[in-house]
This record gives sequence, C-alpha cells and structure tokens, in this order.
Amino acid sequence: MRVAGLVAHADEFVRALGAWYDAAARPLPWRATRDPYAVWVSEVMLQQTRVETVVPYYGRFLARFPTAAALGAAPLEEVLAAWSGLGYYRRARALWLAAREVCERWRGRLPGSAAELATLSGVGPYTAGAVASIAFDAQEPLVDGNVARVLSRLAAIDEPTAAGAGRRALWELARALVPARAPGRFNQALMELGATLCTPARPACGRCPVASLCAARALGSPEALPVAASRRASERVDLVAAVAFAGAEVWLGQRALGGLYAGLWEPPMVAARSLRGARSALRGCGLPATLRFRACGELEHVLTHRRLALRVVVARTRCAGAVAASPGAPPYAAFAWQSRAALPRAMSTLARRVLALAETAEGAA
Ligand code: SF4
Repeated sequence: MRVAGLVAHADEFVRALGAWYDAAARPLPWRATRDPYAVWVSEVMLQQTRVETVVPYYGRFLARFPTAAALGAAPLEEVLAAWSGLGYYRRARALWLAAREVCERWRGRLPGSAAELATLSGVGPYTAGAVASIAFDAQEPLVDGNVARVLSRLAAIDEPTAAGAGRRALWELARALVPARAPGRFNQALMELGATLCTPARPACGRCPVASLCAARALGSPEALPVAASRRASERVDLVAAVAFAGAEVWLGQRALGGLYAGLWEPPMVAARSLRGARSALRGCGLPATLRFRACGELEHVLTHRRLALRVVVARTRCAGAVAASPGAPPYAAFAWQSRAALPRAMSTLARRVLALAETAEGAA
C-alpha cells in the first residue's frame, strides 16, 4: 500500500485531476446545478444505476417534485410511480421519508453538514459527503464504487476494499486528499475518472491525468485492483407469478410497506416451485382454486443478493366478479382488479415483465 506517497503529492494530484475534469467532464444535467435538493436526488438515483438510465428519470422527477417540500407532501404511491422502472425502490421510499424529515426539522431546506445529512433516512456516508461537498462546498470526502477503484489503484491497496481495513484505508485516503477549495469538483472528478478512464477491465492509463502518481500502474496490471472480497453466491428464490385476466381487467396485489417492492402493484407472486405447490398460497391472494391456470413461461430476475426464478401462470375468468375482492394477505396489503389499459404506474420492472409474458401468451391462445 502506497498511501503516504500519494498523500505527499496531494497538491499535484488535485491540480492535475481538476484540470482534466474541467476539460473532459461529461455535461450531465445534475452538474448544471448546486441546488442541494437536486444534487441529493441525483446522487440517490445514481446509486447502483447507470448514468444513461438516470438522465430521463432525473428531469421528470424534479419537474414533478421540484423541492423537498413538494416531495414530502406527495403520496408515497405517486413517488413510487415516478420511480417506476428505476429499480431499488427502497431508495425512493427513503428519499420520500427523508424529505418529510427535512420539512419537519429544517423547514424544507437541506442541512449543509455531512454529519447532519447523515441523520436523514437512507443517507449514508457517501450521499452525505456528496451533497455536503458538491452543494455546500464542505471539505468532505466520499467513496463510491468508482472512487474505491481509482484510489485502490493509485495507492495500490492490496486488500479487499468492500469492508474492514481496506475500506477504512480508502476513506482515510479520500479524507486526506479532498482539498478545502472546490471539494465538490474534486470528488466529482474522482468519480468521473473511475467512470470514464479508470474502468474495471481495461483502464486507459495512457490517457490518465494522474498516471505519473499511480502506484498500480507502476507495478503493472492495475486491472487486478481493487481486490474483490469473496462473493456470496446469490440465493435462488423460486416463485410462481399468477396472472388472472377478466376481460379488460387484471387482478393485482399491492405489496405491504416494509418489505421488497413495498407499495408497488404486481400480479400475485408466491414462493413455490410449481403451480400445484402454489395453490393454497394463491387462494390467500384471493384467487380461487377453480381458476384454471396454465403455464405460460419462465423468467429470471436478478436482485443484489437474490436470483428470482419465476414460473408465470395465466388464467382467464369470465368477469371480474368471479374472483371475490380480497383484503391483503402478507406480503400484500390489498388486492384489486385493475384496468389492463391503464395499469398503476407504481409497478416494478419485474411485474411489467410478468404481465408482458402473460399478455403475449393470452394473445397466442
Ligand atoms: S494510471 Fe491507470 S490505473 Fe492508475 S488511476 Fe490512472 S487509469 Fe487508473
């Protein structure tokens, strides 16, 4: 590990990185503002999500919820609808909760220190550092995936950086490097370097503005860093997703708050490997045993630590009344017939994939 060598050249490092960033930064919409709320929204959206995916959502979200007060005053379902398709819905719920906290505790204006920001729901050290440095010029570090890669290479940190001593070393290094002047520009430049040149598989060291200070480059094979922690095999979860159509309507359940996909609508999904194994759980979702489901396909959906393997089954019933209205049964808070032509906007990508498969099978039947 060559942390001390890099820190000793911090001024040179900051200068070279900053000059490169000014010339090469991509013109992304959130870089045109220093409104703390807008910066915060962009940082939350960008977590585990690609820049190209975020751009259209960011503009629409800010147009609909231009301030923390507007976001906090909106119904959660509307917020989830605006987030629909972006994934990791826990972020949207935490953002909404935190907006309400900002209204209650700071009259709708985000606080300027990382310590205060970190007291908000869903705001961790990364987001607190990003908002504090970019919007408030606070001399605060941040470490996300891109920064972890860049710093672990620059200082040749040769132990896993996801947690433990390696993680602490990264944060200490980031704190030692972040300058008092334009800390937000510096933090964004580090992230930009990781996103565009210091990429995971083939870092473009020949074009890197700080190559002369990079220990991993000097040692050879920078792509071997950062050292990955041994990954937990992702757990497979078998589900049966049941789509019941009644003419122009479809039977959907709304997930209860507090769990996966909270607040979102979807065709009932139950833990089972086969339709036979799913029967009794489907009855709990308001779908009677007399409904004749047939298999219409399989889907796989990958989450952070789980791989959902779904068997999609579909049934047609004559009229909506054939299935009694049902109160919720865990993990659902409610069930209802919904128009197939005007589905709830608060639906996950997975639910839309299930419905598309069932619609196609129905069309072919
Ligand atoms: S020289 Fe290469 S490995 Fe080092 S920071 Fe630059 S792009 Fe990354």
